[in-house]
Amino acid sequence: MALLELKNIIKKYKLAGNEEFVALKNINVSFDKGELVSIIGESGSGKSTMMNLIGGLDSDFEGELLYKGKNIGAFKEAELVSYHKENIGFVFQSFNLISHLNLLDNVAMAMTLSNVDGETRNKRALEVLTDMGLKDHVYKKPDQISGGQKQRVAIARALVNDPDIIIADEPTGALDKETTEQVLEIIKEIAVRGKLVIMVTHSDRVAAYSSRVVKIDNGEIVGDEVGQPLKHVEEQQAATSHKKSKNLGFFAAMRLSLLNMKEKFSRNALVAFGSSIGIMSVVLMLALGNGVTGYVTDQMNSFVNPEVIEVNKPAEVEDDTPLEEMTMEQQQQAQQAQMMNVFGGSEPFTDSDIEKLSEIEHVEYVEKGFTLTALGTNTVAYGDTETMIMQFLSTSSNLIDSNLEEGSFPESGEILITETLASALGEDMIGRTIDVTIVFEGQTLTNSFEVSGIYTAGNNAVYVTYDDIDAWFSEEGIELEPNVVYLHADDASNAESIKEAIRDLGFRGSMQEAMINMFTEMLDVLTLVLTGVAGISLIVSAIMILVVLNISVVERTKEIGVLKALGARLKDIRRIFVTEAFLLGVFGGLIGVGVSYLIGLVVNHFSNNAFDFSVIQITLEYALAGMIISVAISMLASFLPANKAARLDPVESLRRE
Ligand code: ADP
Ligand code: MG
Repeated sequence: MALLELKNIIKKYKLAGNEEFVALKNINVSFDKGELVSIIGESGSGKSTMMNLIGGLDSDFEGELLYKGKNIGAFKEAELVSYHKENIGFVFQSFNLISHLNLLDNVAMAMTLSNVDGETRNKRALEVLTDMGLKDHVYKKPDQISGGQKQRVAIARALVNDPDIIIADEPTGALDKETTEQVLEIIKEIAVRGKLVIMVTHSDRVAAYSSRVVKIDNGEIVGDEVGQPLKHVEEQQAATSHKKSKNLGFFAAMRLSLLNMKEKFSRNALVAFGSSIGIMSVVLMLALGNGVTGYVTDQMNSFVNPEVIEVNKPAEVEDDTPLEEMTMEQQQQAQQAQMMNVFGGSEPFTDSDIEKLSEIEHVEYVEKGFTLTALGTNTVAYGDTETMIMQFLSTSSNLIDSNLEEGSFPESGEILITETLASALGEDMIGRTIDVTIVFEGQTLTNSFEVSGIYTAGNNAVYVTYDDIDAWFSEEGIELEPNVVYLHADDASNAESIKEAIRDLGFRGSMQEAMINMFTEMLDVLTLVLTGVAGISLIVSAIMILVVLNISVVERTKEIGVLKALGARLKDIRRIFVTEAFLLGVFGGLIGVGVSYLIGLVVNHFSNNAFDFSVIQITLEYALAGMIISVAISMLASFLPANKAARLDPVESLRRE
């Protein structure tokens, strides 16, 4: 039985418009081990077509192509792939070495695709390269060696898996006379050692080396002559025996991708940087949200008692009369009322107001309070030192122990002052008597109190008990009405529902609360903007990766053809591109997270100076989320290009110049 037998082979190429071109017309020929066959014929006669069929690169033909009696035309993909890998070695006219891999890696590629371990792979590749006289060049890249050397590398690559058949399509077509002879000697030697070598050539001189010359013309065999006989030697068993070949391994794919990415370093660095911007926005957005929320909660808790809800009564704005129809007085009143509402001022509460508030669910009791906010009219004096106060307030359970720096909360006849006032008035203020002067409803009132303690939260404020204020005011003939009330919740967790009920009744919470709400609203807007930026840049980076991988597929079309000729499966090719995208994602993510961290350091430096707080708080989870999003987006973007690469037709890819 012949090693290779072609029976009634017909190959038709489909052309546009249902036309066909018959490139091979009923070919019948068989080849055996140890033959060196030259296929000669004019350009376009069908030589390459026949080689591609024999090599299993094209299985769309009629007739039977038997390898050791088995029909290749009926092979499934997996069988065809192992047929390539184990039995066929390709040598091309244009060498088709992979430019970003060194000679050792180029030769080892066929084994890399079979997931042979690195050590065995390199040992075998080195052995074949040494046979080809290239021992000293193994770490060079293909463009650092001459044409003859390149073709010897290509032959080494074809031999590395110890195939039975070597197919050489015009192996000397690109070589000068002298190197042609060297290469032909090597090819002859391969046949002498017992392999079947089928070599396409135009040249009679080349054909003269062979043991058989098959002439093909216009898709038909028109001659089959015996040439120079070969002196055969005993076939040497190669170091690697044929194992069941496996597929391209994950780490091998990773290494191949890294080598390729290194070759196009600046482009890949730019892409990784570009895609890192989206990741950066995501990480910074999360970290900023985290930081600011932390800051706000911190502030909120440091000012007030979470079980106590401050209630203010908004001044009524008479909004039914249009502004232009109001009298001067009405306009002024409305303006004042608006100002009051903005600055947290409050109208007096009536008994029925308090009644309504005490009926809110979860409210245990209601505490009356008084606040007087003024700029410039109210003062405290100690001896000759006088200083302005912004707020004159009644004490309430809204004051918290942790903010009491020194002393105690005031009893009857006593006063609590803020730190700012204490330092303005003098040293060791506790126990001293100070004079408080306030202007209320047009009257200037003065009274003396003994300082009981110093409070840290708030600016330029003093606190006396509600009863003291009441007594003081009635001495002056004024009836004190509460203009702020404090509701005690049965539990801090019910504070939110109480706040809601207050708003429903037409009252207002504390000024801090209003500010925090405003702040949170601003933060929401900021988060929305950042999310938008993040979303858009993630889409942009996905498109960018898609485009770059697509370009990469186009650039590497020939390489993909070579890999397929060496026995790469669809999956292997896909894996190479997906791995590349994975690495781009990892690098993009690392840059994104790294730069976010640096930005965080800078921003936090300033925010620490300004508010004593780090506003950007990157957690490990955010960093991981950034990495995962980055990798996921790149891999998603790689889907189309990787498939496109995997589906490339090897014969067409190889024909591409
Ligand atoms: P050569 O003997 O020069 O290697 P080929 O085998 O490459 O010739 O081509 C044989 C014939 O088949 C040529 O006429 C060529 O134009 C035609 N041919 C090759 N590939 C295709 C294809 N994909 N589609 C249509 N015609 C093709
Ligand atoms: Mg050809």
